[in-house]
Amino acid sequence: MTADILIVGGGIVGAACARMLLNAGRSVAILERDFIGGGATAAGMGHIVVMDDSEEQFTLTKRSRDLWDALVPQMPPELEFERRGTLWVAADEEELAAVSGKQNYYAERGVPTELLDAQQLAAAEPALRPGMAGGFLVPGDSVIYAPCAADWLAQGATVLQGQAVALGDGVLKLHNGDTLSASAIILATGAAAIDLMPSLPLKPRKGHLAITDRYPGAVHHQLVELGYLKSAHSSGTESVACNIQPRKTGQLLIGSSRQFGVTHSDVEPHLLSQMLNRALHYLPLLAEMNVIRTWTGFRAATPDHLPIVGLIPGTRRNYLATGHEGLGITTSLGTAELIADAILGRPGPLSPSPYLADRFPECHV
Ligand SMILES: Cc1cc2nc3c(=O)[nH]c(=O)nc-3n(C[C@H](O)[C@H](O)[C@H](O)COP(=O)(O)OP(=O)(O)OC[C@H]3O[C@@H](n4cnc5c(N)ncnc54)[C@H](O)[C@@H]3O)c2cc1C
Repeated sequence: MTADILIVGGGIVGAACARMLLNAGRSVAILERDFIGGGATAAGMGHIVVMDDSEEQFTLTKRSRDLWDALVPQMPPELEFERRGTLWVAADEEELAAVSGKQNYYAERGVPTELLDAQQLAAAEPALRPGMAGGFLVPGDSVIYAPCAADWLAQGATVLQGQAVALGDGVLKLHNGDTLSASAIILATGAAAIDLMPSLPLKPRKGHLAITDRYPGAVHHQLVELGYLKSAHSSGTESVACNIQPRKTGQLLIGSSRQFGVTHSDVEPHLLSQMLNRALHYLPLLAEMNVIRTWTGFRAATPDHLPIVGLIPGTRRNYLATGHEGLGITTSLGTAELIADAILGRPGPLSPSPYLADRFPECHV
């Protein structure tokens, strides 16, 4: 092996780590069992969003969004980056009242937002069902085509085809019996990280998505019902929420569902229909649109909804970058910065502590 740094997994997180370390002048190889930008990265929605479930989540999503923004001038068109903004839709006065406090929270942390009343909401998104109470607009949020973004971020790294089957300190064993060593190994295999580290507190959380034919101009912002937060937090086995994303192609990407305890990737008609009906409730126009493809993917969920990033306890050369659940496209760049700072021993803008693996005592190699 000729690279200093070996990254296992070429999803958006591994690719972002590669980019950050290449920029710091290190040589980087990515070991990938399938292809760059596959896995959850190919299944996800590509919404780059600042979220406020916790202070730590806000900090990481905001820093990551800033890092994405800094890359915009260099991005090739196939990344389909668009600053759509997130429009959180309040279905009733109770939801609208609850969202008012968010505006101060975001403003105090340097993220501009706007509260929209019913009329302003209808003007911003005429296709929404009449009678919605209002909205909370985060104009700086954006949308990207994640598989192409991963491919682009990984450029300059050596890509090795193969599957890791065992992890030692600075050493990897491959399925074909070969071993690879490096001064640092980053485990960025998403939900599959438990295959190499069974002690990780990760659970796969299945999600369905659907995409329509092209209807340019039908929707302008990423539309998310405020109930989405309930769905994202729920620890129940199944939940759905309306989440609609306009793509640069004119297509609408429709989510989202969340399921624990299911490991097969089949599209499940009962859940798909619940999800589409939820979207239809917010956007009646969908009834006249064709859905042309449906699929599923798995988010890597942690008990506290924060990713696991940093040195693996008990090792000197192994790092973890996993557990990003439904925010890994967004937080890939913030994660990569944390990892690069840790490997290079340099101070960074974020405190690494909230994301370290040692917050889970059971987590070891
Ligand atoms: C339905 C759905 C919607 C989503 N929407 C969004 C969204 O709008 N915004 C957002 O920010 N996030 C979203 N996410 C989450 C996001 O997609 C993930 O958090 C992110 O893609 C995780 O990236 P990753 O690189 O960690 O994992 P992955 O993309 O899964 O990549 C891991 C890679 O590791 C490889 N690999 C696994 N095991 C091995 C091994 N042993 N040896 C070698 N290679 C291996 C795999 O082949 C894969 O390529 C969504 C997820 C889903 C499922």
